[in-house]
Parts: sequence; C-alpha cells; structure tokens
Amino acid sequence: MPKVLRAVKMDQCIACMGCMLTCARVRYQSFSVERSAIRVRTAGGFQSQMIADICMGCDPPPCAEVCMSGALTPRAGGGVKFNRDACFACEKCVAACPVGVITMDNELHIPIICVECGSCARHCPYECLEMVEVETKDYVKEEERMARDVEEEKNAG
Ligand code: SF4
Ligand code: SF4
Repeated sequence: MPKVLRAVKMDQCIACMGCMLTCARVRYQSFSVERSAIRVRTAGGFQSQMIADICMGCDPPPCAEVCMSGALTPRAGGGVKFNRDACFACEKCVAACPVGVITMDNELHIPIICVECGSCARHCPYECLEMVEVETKDYVKEEERMARDVEEEKNAG
C-alpha cells in the first residue's frame, strides 16, 4: 500500500530542523533550509508548540492538475512525482496548492515541492513525522463502475 507523510507527534519536536536539512540535502543537494519542502515553525510565539507545514498528499493533486508541462504528475496514493527537466517555472503549482507548501526557488528555477520520499521522517530523531499507509484510488475502476451503473439503469428503464 502507498504511503504519504504525516506530522504525527509534533508535540515531541525540538525544532532541530533535521527534517528540513535532510529534505534540502537529499532532494536539492543543498544545505539551505530554504530548499526544504517541509517547514517546521512555532504555532505562534516562542513558547508555543512546533507545527510542520507539509504536503497533504492530495489525491488528486491540484498542483499537478494545473501543471501544463507534465513536470508534476499524480503519484499513487496521493501527492506528486516531479520531473525537473520538464518544468519551465511558470509557478502555477505554487498558486494551486491549497495549503501553500510549494515555494519557488528563483535560483534553480524550479518549485521546492514534496515528493513523499519520506527522508525527513527517517531522519527525525523524535519520530514526529511518519509515512502513513493510505488507500490507492483507482480512477479507472471507478469510471468503469459508474459507466456500468448508468448502463444498468438504462437497461432497467
Ligand atoms: S504540493 Fe500542495 S497541492 Fe500538491 S499534493 Fe501537496 S498539498 Fe496537494
Ligand atoms: S526532525 Fe523532528 S524534531 Fe527535528 S525539527 Fe523536524 S520534526 Fe522537529
């Protein structure tokens, strides 16, 4: 079964930024947290709990729906796959994301976007993040089922 990232125990987060640094390093060969697709921050004020802004693994993903170049395509289970070579930095995905977790890197000319690789979860020392199993939506089967229902209704009428 496919998995997507979830912030499951942010009450244990110590704001070490390990997840952010891992994302930047693994995905973009960078040491800058600016190049992280996960953002850990306080909920407001220094004494409040930490929260993580993460990709929700939408299924279907609005960011891929507006991507005309095919750089973003739906991933099984939710979220997207990213083809860097196909991206022409139009920024439509940035505007389409309902939770605002895509940022544009103006130097690399690509979006900083989560691909649900799970590296951040594996490197969190306090298990705040987890890759959680999700059901796969089978659109083809669903369309077939709906067409069958319509046909049966027609025949019954
Ligand atoms: S980047 Fe945003 S729109 Fe795309 S799958 Fe993640 S949460 Fe959804
Ligand atoms: S790696 Fe874990 S503890 Fe460190 S900032 Fe990220 S979520 Fe918090």
